[in-house]
Amino acid sequence: GHPPPPAEPLAPHDVFIAVKTTRKFHRARLDLLLETWISRHKQMTFIFTDGEDEALARRTGNVVNTNCSAAHSRQALSCKMAVEFDHFMESGRKWFCHVDDDNYVNVRALLRLLASYPHTQDVYIGKPSLDRPIQATERVSENTMRPVHFWFATGGAGFCISQGLALKMSPWARGHFMNTAERIRLPDDCTIGYIVEALLGVPLIRSGLFHSHLENLQQVPASELHEQVTLSYGMFENKRNAIHVKGPFSVEADPSRFRSIHCHLYPDTPWCPHTSIF
Ligand code: UDP
Ligand code: MN
Repeated sequence: GHPPPPAEPLAPHDVFIAVKTTRKFHRARLDLLLETWISRHKQMTFIFTDGEDEALARRTGNVVNTNCSAAHSRQALSCKMAVEFDHFMESGRKWFCHVDDDNYVNVRALLRLLASYPHTQDVYIGKPSLDRPIQATERVSENTMRPVHFWFATGGAGFCISQGLALKMSPWARGHFMNTAERIRLPDDCTIGYIVEALLGVPLIRSGLFHSHLENLQQVPASELHEQVTLSYGMFENKRNAIHVKGPFSVEADPSRFRSIHCHLYPDTPWCPHTSIF
């Protein structure tokens, strides 16, 4: 449904959107985002990558080379999340949002959602990736392990954290995220859930407005695109998975559907076909 009315007005520079990417996806994925949603929201968006790219630097000033390894390892991904969190804290902004480079962010819907919560309170919002809490083992000392369970928002659908909560997370996250991730030996998005739910006792707010390609994206009605906060594309159960939207671009020309979605949300975009201007 619709988020409640605004608790506080939000300006674009109040939100910090971190996009996680890797050098080999700059052309394959990131360029599409720069042409679509990022083009409208450059001051909000920061790209966290692992390799130099002059072509990328020419298109946006907000590129952070994390110096993390370009491997798809748990440690390399936690390294990027650690750098994202530290940069957000340094920015002093009200909201931290993390997305992957196969996410479309509908920034108007995102601002509407975040404006309905006070940034000074504890807010952790996203889509749980499992239908029950994850069971993990936390290392509490040199030779003591104990079971923990907690919910976490799947990183592939994007999630947001308020400044108030981020301040409370700082003892475990700011400059210490990698160590905390090692304590439970789980991926970066699980580590965020561990800090928020297990260590701080703050519950995840579930939102149906965040979407990853681990769900059937055909089920998101085109008539409700204006309300969705994040979208994605990719593979699901060995099949191509993307939002079902008619046009203006064909599936062959626009397999992710992000160009068509962008024209649906921002019809005044110069490269969007205009049916009739008279
Ligand atoms: N990624 C990365 N380093 C890698 C591989 C992937 O930083 O070596 C990033 C990628 O850019 C994306 C996220 O991790 O933002 C998830 O990657 P992908 O979509 O390929 O995998 P998924 O987990 O969704 O199947
Ligand atoms: Mn993905």
